[in-house]
Amino acid sequence: MFNRLYLHIPFCLRKCPYCSFVSRDDGAGQDDYPELLLREIGLAAQSLHASGPVDSVYWGGGTPSLLDPSHISGILETINRFWPLAADAEITLEANPGTIDRSYLTGLRTAGINRLSLGVQSFDDRSLQILGRIHTARDSVQAIEDARHAGFDNLGIDLIHALPRQTVSEWHRELKRALAATPDHISIYGLTIEEQTPFAALYPEGSSDLTDNDLSAAMSEAADDLLVSAGFRHYEIANYALPGRESRHNSGYWRRDRYLGLGAGAHTFLNDSVFGSRFSNSSDTAQYAAEVRQGNLVRHDCQELSREDAMAEFMFLGLRMAEGICCRDFEREFGQSVHHAFGRAIERLAPAGLLVIRDDRMWLTPRGMLLSNQVLSCFIP
Ligand code: SF4
Repeated sequence: MFNRLYLHIPFCLRKCPYCSFVSRDDGAGQDDYPELLLREIGLAAQSLHASGPVDSVYWGGGTPSLLDPSHISGILETINRFWPLAADAEITLEANPGTIDRSYLTGLRTAGINRLSLGVQSFDDRSLQILGRIHTARDSVQAIEDARHAGFDNLGIDLIHALPRQTVSEWHRELKRALAATPDHISIYGLTIEEQTPFAALYPEGSSDLTDNDLSAAMSEAADDLLVSAGFRHYEIANYALPGRESRHNSGYWRRDRYLGLGAGAHTFLNDSVFGSRFSNSSDTAQYAAEVRQGNLVRHDCQELSREDAMAEFMFLGLRMAEGICCRDFEREFGQSVHHAFGRAIERLAPAGLLVIRDDRMWLTPRGMLLSNQVLSCFIP
């Protein structure tokens, strides 16, 4: 059972040198892909049922904005036939500003997409070049303008900070440009150097071009100051939203809602065992295609969660959100108190000013959020 759907579109016009997502830029298999998704939906619907109306659908990638709106609307109609969508379902599509124009965006809106997530990454052309993006800052501003014109009133942008040799004042300028573009939601990710990407060779560990932890923390604090004073709520470690514009789909991940992933490399979380199970589709697009064509939905990297796994997830996902976790919910789900399960971590983090416990809730302080990697790892067995 699930109440959220994720569709992965593993194609890009050109691979960015920092990216380790499942995507390819040679076009192989791209034309057949919508048909494969339709087939996968039909196969999955034979055994998997929604727990009620589907509350959110998220098209991620890769570059979902390479899909034709007619394919998107056909796939959404098919989804709705098997797993009815809630009347107010949030339907998000990630779009690359270098692949869209006003008429395409109007087509998306007509196809049923009601939330747009734009991969802006930077409002500085030099940074965009470093990142190997296919678009300019001007393209992003134009894309936001076009999206508003096409009727998108729920629009998010992604930004990356801690770029090689980036200064805090350059980042501050970018944030101001971001605010001037008036998005409803801003996601901010620090650049991470992923293994086996061109960036891993360009910027080896210890490279003086890379931003150190202090500078990166100063950039996060600058974002917090500026965005919060502009009316955004820092509702999750990497996410800011105007009131009512929080991502429902992503909030579902942090609350451990069940979701079904469709497409190559997509991940799924279902409650078909006591504490839930996670698995993924093949991330090899050719293998994924072969499995779907054979009518055989193979579950890769299956993990049936133990009580300990599920308790850890409850903590390290829930504490990502500003609202934190509800201790009573934890006890209801696992039959023991959060203090009993994680007393040692709590005793270390709370006196250090990284975690707050009040009434039956627990959440990270701003400093806890800044040091979230270290803090959240305390809950992993
Ligand atoms: S456009 Fe996005 S998914 Fe595609 S290569 Fe660049 S970062 Fe990765």
